[in-house]
Amino acid sequence: MKQPKIVILTGAGISAESGLATFRDNNGLWEDHQIEDVATPQAFLRDPELVYRFYNARRAQLQRADVQPNAAHKSIAELQQRLGDNVTIITQNVDNLHERGGSHNVLHMHGTLLSYRCLSSHQQVYYTAPYDSNTRCHCCDPGSKVRPDIVWFGETPKYMQTIMTALSQADMFIAIGTSGQVYPAAGFVEIARDSNVHSVEINLQSAANKDLFDETWQGPASETVPAFFNTFLKTLS
Ligand SMILES: [Zn+2]
Repeated sequence: MKQPKIVILTGAGISAESGLATFRDNNGLWEDHQIEDVATPQAFLRDPELVYRFYNARRAQLQRADVQPNAAHKSIAELQQRLGDNVTIITQNVDNLHERGGSHNVLHMHGTLLSYRCLSSHQQVYYTAPYDSNTRCHCCDPGSKVRPDIVWFGETPKYMQTIMTALSQADMFIAIGTSGQVYPAAGFVEIARDSNVHSVEINLQSAANKDLFDETWQGPASETVPAFFNTFLKTLS
């Protein structure tokens, strides 16, 4: 039997059970700032040290021992092991829990916490330590300043061409733990529909665009995602 091509999109909901805090206090603020006001190119121009500090804190949290991939990340890795390059994994998350769960070639459309981007060469470099305006890259001589390797509000997500091609050629599109509110990811289901790709939503709470999906599985990702893939893999054998 022909191996199906599967495109998986994951959002914050898949990492919610992995011990990551939201970085919002009771007022929904971080150090008296709206997170949306820290994650912009304008904020980086206005107050770079604030922006570095925010991402340094998030990077440090991600590396805490109690933050671990959960059963949902692992079951996606198992599917990828089984179907290889026929599985495309796209994530809106900036954590590395897919990789730690065993997945590879993950398309981090919003960038990653565990890297910096050189402001001169735009190279993305794996980097786990804190960094700020004194940090210099190793790709230029003399070294240049670096910025968080995060796609901020108002910037264009990465890998869009690869993603569009994968979506148009897929047999199935599965959105896991995404709100369906952040574009362009929220529009992927419409691209899938236009190419007659079967679409599945797996979510704790239904996405804003739930009516666009052919199939919906509701529940915590760590239970629902393995249950879905176990059922799906039986249809292949
Ligand atoms: Zn450089």
